[in-house]
Amino acid sequence: MSIQLFDFHGGICPPEHKADSNAEPIRAAPIPQQLVIPLSQRQGSAARVIVRLGQAVRTGETIAEPVDELGVAVHASSSGVITAIDHRVTLTGEVAECIIIDTDGIDRWHAMTPHPTWREYSPIQLIDLIQSAGIVGMGGAGFPTAHKLSASHIDTLIINGAECEPYITADDLTMRERAERVLLGAEILQQITAARRVLIAIEDNKAEAIEQISSALVARGEQYQLATVPTRYPSGGEKQLIQLLTGEQVPQGGLPADIGVICHNIGTCAAIADAIATGVPLISRITTFTGGAISQRGNLEVRIGTPLSHLLNWTGFDQDQCHKLLAGGSIMGKLIIDGDAPVTKTTHCILAATHTELPDPAPASPCIRCGLCAEACPAKLLPQQLYWYSRSRQFEPLAKYGLTDCIECGVCTYVCPSSIPLVDYFVTAKTEIKTKQDEQQRAEHARERFESRQARLARDANEKEAARAARKAQATANPEQSRFADQLDPVQAAIERAKTKKKQLLMAQPETPDPSVTRLELTSQLEVMSQRLSDAKLNNADQKILTALEASIALIQSQLSDDRIDESKPSDLAESKHINPAGDI
Ligand code: SF4
Ligand code: SF4
Repeated sequence: MSIQLFDFHGGICPPEHKADSNAEPIRAAPIPQQLVIPLSQRQGSAARVIVRLGQAVRTGETIAEPVDELGVAVHASSSGVITAIDHRVTLTGEVAECIIIDTDGIDRWHAMTPHPTWREYSPIQLIDLIQSAGIVGMGGAGFPTAHKLSASHIDTLIINGAECEPYITADDLTMRERAERVLLGAEILQQITAARRVLIAIEDNKAEAIEQISSALVARGEQYQLATVPTRYPSGGEKQLIQLLTGEQVPQGGLPADIGVICHNIGTCAAIADAIATGVPLISRITTFTGGAISQRGNLEVRIGTPLSHLLNWTGFDQDQCHKLLAGGSIMGKLIIDGDAPVTKTTHCILAATHTELPDPAPASPCIRCGLCAEACPAKLLPQQLYWYSRSRQFEPLAKYGLTDCIECGVCTYVCPSSIPLVDYFVTAKTEIKTKQDEQQRAEHARERFESRQARLARDANEKEAARAARKAQATANPEQSRFADQLDPVQAAIERAKTKKKQLLMAQPETPDPSVTRLELTSQLEVMSQRLSDAKLNNADQKILTALEASIALIQSQLSDDRIDESKPSDLAESKHINPAGDI
């Protein structure tokens, strides 16, 4: 049963250049001597390193763990030894922390755990496995798949195999050669989302992929449908594809899940199938190597972290022929800054274009208000207005004109007769706005922290003042009992009371009568104890202490009154009686 298609606004039909790279089967690229594996993906948080320098690791072993739900695990793409954990430049010039592995050439695998009974797993269990397998959106966005799957109330799951940008054929080859895996991934996603229907969307320029997916779909129920969409750039844009297949528009500033739809890329589905069915995490991806400056054009299965220079050497790259080296296709591709930087989980295409393929654009001239950009914009924006406000850095009108809805597809730049690099202005403006928002957020947090501290200090001061006032009131009502109440705070007063009591106890400690004591010594002890009793009374000592001291004095006095005590002989009584520190006899 074919599904009804709708339309989206604008779009273009540039030369496809798909045949340049889709004639040969996928080849496995050789493993390099050194892998440079980034800890962060294009989006989400960086993973935390769990290996140490010098540690030997095996292929597929976890080397960094996610720190939150926006992160994913990172794995060793081949076996070897960790030789550095360092910051390195990425293909497009950003700096990212990376784990560097000197490979051993053996590619010794870590033990994998397949999950053949995954149909009995809960959505949470499956999402956890996807996060642990390090899976991110492989269509280029790099958004953590597990996090995207946390959306609820999904009616339609779209598997995006449109691959609309010129030159890129990685998804095409994946569908041709791995259709079963793609659909297994789709089934896992369906189980997680409980989507009522699953639509696999493929542009009509991929006949072989359509055939393979159709055959694999026969074994699935009616819930799974193939949607062949017209070849028009950017039909593979998430919002455009949703509109094509459902006729619904994602609300401005909203997400597909807001209208009950979720989209996942073909490559992501295959990676999910590998992770769940065989336990193999995301350690490699299919990348298209194309353009006139590459002689061995085609699709390679590349280990994540392989330096691009290693792959270019292997594919017959001709530096002299290369006019532009891009990560991505001819419209959205980003200029590669460092050819030694590694391939990442989102590198779906390397385009080494000759001057003929991608000539330099003519110098920009003033806008002639032809309106072609607005006609072609698939997001129904007014690029000429956005251009005006981006140039003059007026951020408020930019928000009003929907800059955040710009998908950076480059269609406006492509059609502009004045050769204005419109999309470059929009990307720069978005970055500036984001930086400004981040700064505002940081300032807001700092202000909140300051205000909360001030409030806490004021509260403490008020409480202290209230306690002081209460003590004062008590002192007025009962001056004797609260003699010191207005001078010390409760804690200090308790400490002082404890100190006084300890002192009094020490004072009350009687000396044990010594059997060898003489009358002279007993007299001396009596004097000491009498003095202590007098001091204790002066200090308002506890009655128990006074009693103990009095008992000690009475004992000494009774010893002294005993006629048998010689001036030089020990006291018999002192031999048989002892006074303990508490004064009990
Ligand atoms: S296409 Fe170019 S020249 Fe025409 S309105 Fe847009 S910005 Fe101006
Ligand atoms: S880059 Fe943005 S403004 Fe230009 S056509 Fe695409 S969505 Fe529209």
